[in-house]
Amino acid sequence: MKVVIIGGVAGGMSAATRLRRLDENAEIIVYEKGPYVSFANCGLPYFVGGVIDKKESLLLQTPESLWNRFRLDVRVNTEVTSIDRENKKITAVNTETGEQTEDYDYLIISPGANPRKLPIEGIERAVVLKDVEDSVRIKQMVDDGEIKSAAILGAGFIGVELAENLNHRGVKTTLVEFRDHVLPQFDIEMIEPFQANLEANGIDIAVSAETESISENKLKLKDGRVIEADLVVSSVGVVADSKLAEMAGIEMGVAGGIKVDENLRTSDPNIFAVGDAVEKQSLITDQPQMIWLANLANRHGRLVADVIAGKTAPARKSIGTGIIGAFGMAAALTGITEGLAQRMGIEYSAIHLHPGSHAGYFPGSERISLKVLFDPETGKLLGAQSVGKDGADKRIDILATAIYAGLHVDDLMNLELAYSPEFGSAKDAINHVGYVGNNVLEKKSPNVHWNELESELSRGLKILDVRTQSEFDRGHIPGAILAPVDELREHLDDLAGEEYVVHCAVGQRAHTAIQILSSRGIKAKNLSGGYTTWKFAQDALARSEF
Ligand SMILES: Cc1cc2nc3c(=O)[nH]c(=O)nc-3n(C[C@H](O)[C@H](O)[C@H](O)COP(=O)(O)OP(=O)(O)OC[C@H]3O[C@@H](n4cnc5c(N)ncnc54)[C@H](O)[C@@H]3O)c2cc1C
Repeated sequence: MKVVIIGGVAGGMSAATRLRRLDENAEIIVYEKGPYVSFANCGLPYFVGGVIDKKESLLLQTPESLWNRFRLDVRVNTEVTSIDRENKKITAVNTETGEQTEDYDYLIISPGANPRKLPIEGIERAVVLKDVEDSVRIKQMVDDGEIKSAAILGAGFIGVELAENLNHRGVKTTLVEFRDHVLPQFDIEMIEPFQANLEANGIDIAVSAETESISENKLKLKDGRVIEADLVVSSVGVVADSKLAEMAGIEMGVAGGIKVDENLRTSDPNIFAVGDAVEKQSLITDQPQMIWLANLANRHGRLVADVIAGKTAPARKSIGTGIIGAFGMAAALTGITEGLAQRMGIEYSAIHLHPGSHAGYFPGSERISLKVLFDPETGKLLGAQSVGKDGADKRIDILATAIYAGLHVDDLMNLELAYSPEFGSAKDAINHVGYVGNNVLEKKSPNVHWNELESELSRGLKILDVRTQSEFDRGHIPGAILAPVDELREHLDDLAGEEYVVHCAVGQRAHTAIQILSSRGIKAKNLSGGYTTWKFAQDALARSEF
C-alpha cells in the first residue's frame, strides 16, 4: 500500500506516524512545501516573545528523525501542485530539483489554512504569523530594535497571543478589532475582564475599528483614529486551503472547507482530508462548521490512518474547545456561545456565575467567570465560557468533557471533583453551575440577563439590590432599591405590590432573597451573574462605543 500525504505538520504528520505504527510495510510519502515539518505552530507567538528561546524547540521532528524512527519519506520544500484523480497520481515541484510525480493508493490532504487578506490600502506592509519563518522574521525585526510600536489587525487568538509577546519585548502594541470586543469568539460580557487585564498590562485596544489604510509607521482607522505602528501584523482569521482539492474536482462543503464524511473521506473514495482544510460536523448544532484547532487536526490525522489501515473508527462530531492566556489570565470556551445560538436560532437557557477558583478561606482564591448554555427543556449542555486567573482551564475541560458525554446541567451537581482547599471547594465551581442551572431549569429562580434588564424595567419591574450598603456605595445599577438580604424580611411590607429584578454581586444572595420574597407572594427574577456580569457588560459596551 502506498500512501501520499500533502502537508507535513499537525494533521498530515499525525496520519503518517499513526499509519506506520499500524502498518510496518506501507510506503508513506509526506510532501511539505515549507522547509520544516512537524513544527509547533502554537508556539510561534512565544518564540517572538522570547518565552521559547530557541527556534529548534519549535521543531518537533526533522525529515531525518522521521526516517529513522518511522521510515517516512518526507520531502520538504516540495509543493504538490496538482492531483490527477483518474490516474491516482500527484505532481509536485521541489525548489531545487524541480518537478516530480508520484502515484498513490490513498492520498491524504492536510494543507491547513491560509491567513485571510483584507483589501486595505497599504496591506502589503503587513506581515502574518503562520509558520516558523514568519516568527523568525518578526523576532529579528524586534531584536534589531526596528520595532517600537505595533498594530495587530484582528484580536482573535493569534493576535492576542502575539500582542502579549510583543509587549514582553517592550513593543507598544495596539490590538485593532473590527468587532465590538477582543476575542470575538466569546460573548461580550464574558471577555470584559480579559480585555481589562490586557489594558492593565499595557496593550492598547481599539475595538469597533475598521482600518482605512496602512502607511509607513502608521495605521489609519475609518473613524479618524491614527495608531503608531512600526510593525503591522494582519491576523484577521484564516481560510481553508482547499485550492488543490478544488482544482481536482473534489466536492467542497457549505461552511468553506473540503467536504468529508465521518471517516474523513472526500467525494473521491481514495482521497481523505483532515485538519484546518476540512469542515467538521458540530456535535451541538449537527451542522458543518470550520474549527481551526490543533487537537482536531491531530485527532483526525490519527483517525484517517486507522480508517486506511482497515480499522472502523468513525470521527466523533466536534465540540470546538479552545483556550488563550495572556498576562496571567485565561479565557476558554467550548461548544456554542450565546451569540452563535442566537445567530443559528437555537433555543437555550444561559447562566452566569463568578465562583472562586478554590475555597475562599484559603489564600489565593481567584474569581472564575463562567457562562453556561443548556437546552431550556432538557438541560442538556450546549456550551460554556470560562475566564479567570486561576482554574478557568480546569473548569472548561470538565465542561467540555460533560458536553462530550451528553450530560445535562443538573448532572453537574453530582460530579465528585477533587477537593482540598488549595485546589477547589467542597462545592466546586462546577457543582455550583449544576445548582444554578437546576434552579433555572426547575424555575425556582427565574433568570434575567443584563441585556434584558431594560425591557424588564419598561414592563414595570423594579431593581432590588440585596448587597450591603458599602457594596452599593462602591457602584450600583441606576434606579436600584437597596435592601440587604439580611434585612430583607423587615422590608417585605414596603416591597409588596411590585415585581422585582433582584441582584447581589454574583447571584447567590439574590437567590436567597427571591425565596424570601416569594414566601410573601412577591414575584422576583434573578439578574444572572449579578452586578458583576452587569458591570462587565457596561464596561465592554462603553469601550466599544468609541
Ligand atoms: C501562530 C499560531 C498559533 C496557533 N495556536 C494554536 C493553539 O494554541 N491551539 C490550537 O488548538 N491551535 C492553534 N493553532 C492552530 C493549529 O496550528 C492548526 O489548527 C493546525 O496546525 C492545523 O493542522 P493542519 O495539519 O490542518 O495544518 P497545518 O498544521 O497548518 O499544516 C499544513 C501544512 O501543509 C503545507 N502545505 C500546504 N499546501 C501544500 C502543498 N500543496 N504541498 C505541500 N505542502 C503543503 C503547509 O506548508 C503547512 O506546513 C495556531 C496556529 C497558528 C498559525
